[in-house]
Amino acid sequence: MLATPHLLTGALIGQATGNYPLAFACGVMSHFALDGIPHTEPSTFLQDPHACWKWNVRVAVVDVLLGLALLCYLLPHASHPGIAAWGALGAVFPDLVSNIPLWQKRIWNTWWGRPFLKFHAWIHYSIPRRYWPLGILTQVATVAVVLCLWK
Ligand SMILES: [Zn+2]
Repeated sequence: MLATPHLLTGALIGQATGNYPLAFACGVMSHFALDGIPHTEPSTFLQDPHACWKWNVRVAVVDVLLGLALLCYLLPHASHPGIAAWGALGAVFPDLVSNIPLWQKRIWNTWWGRPFLKFHAWIHYSIPRRYWPLGILTQVATVAVVLCLWK
């Protein structure tokens, strides 16, 4: 999924734990749970996902800025803002580890990196292009549910 649903879901779950390490761990687990839901990715619209990295970067920047803006709005209203932030960080941690070319190769060559990246790729369910509206809907619905549940 995109960063926005991950950030918000991680923050919601994180604040529910009331504990920093647990918030981070639950954030990571929420990432894998959401990645298993069929969803549209920026690469869904590309013939060759590796050929148009500029498109992926542009979407990622807009997505992350939107997610952070919503977090900045929500966190002051959280029962435990710091813990919610750790949940949000845990929720994007798998993508930070997996998708940043700067350290992706290095992580792949560690004892934990290869199984971690393989699991991440395995659980990821990018929806076929012809169903892309459904893949957007699953993410919008995720954000809507989090916003409704936020206290
Ligand atoms: Zn992911």
